[in-house]
Amino acid sequence: MIEVKQLTKEFRIAGDKNLTVLKDINLVIEQGDIFGIIGMSGAGKSTFIRCLNLLERPTGGSILIDGVDITMKKGRDLLALRKSIGMIFQNFNLLMQKNVSRNIAFGLEITKVADFVIPGIDKEDYKELGFFQKRKLKKKEIQRRVDELLRLVDLEDKKYEYPSKLSGGQRQRVAIARALATSPSILLCDEATSALDSRTTDSILKLLKKINEETGVTIVMITHEMNVVQKICNKVAVLDKSEIVASGYTEDVFGDTSSEIVAQLLGGGE
Ligand code: ATP
Ligand code: MG
Repeated sequence: MIEVKQLTKEFRIAGDKNLTVLKDINLVIEQGDIFGIIGMSGAGKSTFIRCLNLLERPTGGSILIDGVDITMKKGRDLLALRKSIGMIFQNFNLLMQKNVSRNIAFGLEITKVADFVIPGIDKEDYKELGFFQKRKLKKKEIQRRVDELLRLVDLEDKKYEYPSKLSGGQRQRVAIARALATSPSILLCDEATSALDSRTTDSILKLLKKINEETGVTIVMITHEMNVVQKICNKVAVLDKSEIVASGYTEDVFGDTSSEIVAQLLGGGE
């Protein structure tokens, strides 16, 4: 369970001013939820989700995961936290110079910062994502886990293929397998289907649902596609100008005709 209490995030911006991006956020996400985060561009959705694995440090409040406050975690504790939280992105962020198998194994292997360049993630972020932990897994164990994950995402025939030869949907499947390599209990998705066509989106949603049902992983999913929320999220929270203005079961939040922002979002107002 994730409990977010009075969370605030301010960024220091030019002229020594503070920009408040998250204001007094209170939210409970239960284990096994597929929890949607929606809101207009700039509302603070990505910042919020990045606070959950401390890619951004909150400036106030607390985040409890299974009862333990994570906000002050550092060093080894932070790495253990990152291992228990997987993340996927709109542009997949695969390692283009490595094949599918090596991409999936990435999170399980001993690696050097200097070896990698992932577009959209800088070197500090690799460390932050927990990719640089020395793991005591033997080669054979890593291979067994990679094969298991390839079966899960239905890409066994692409094991030795390079990302440049894959479709968008296949790339996102690789990214999902990589995110799940360390068997996290939480999977964060920031616009994970936004770069995909509607049929591919459906197949990725089906896969995420299957993984959620089979492993009980909690999924926190930012999306601007309301049909995605309707298809897969049992709960949803609406962020508007740094604040949560509605949250609860999807049908209740979407059924509330008195909410202007919900009407705007459902009307494709973004
Ligand atoms: P979108 O739907 O466009 O992805 P979002 O809801 O994810 O938007 P965020 O990326 O969380 O929005 O950004 C919220 C606000 O915080 C924006 O005004 C943005 O400019 C600001 N912001 C985000 N990161 C930083 C940063 N590192 N430094 C300063 N301001 C930032
Ligand atoms: Mg965003």
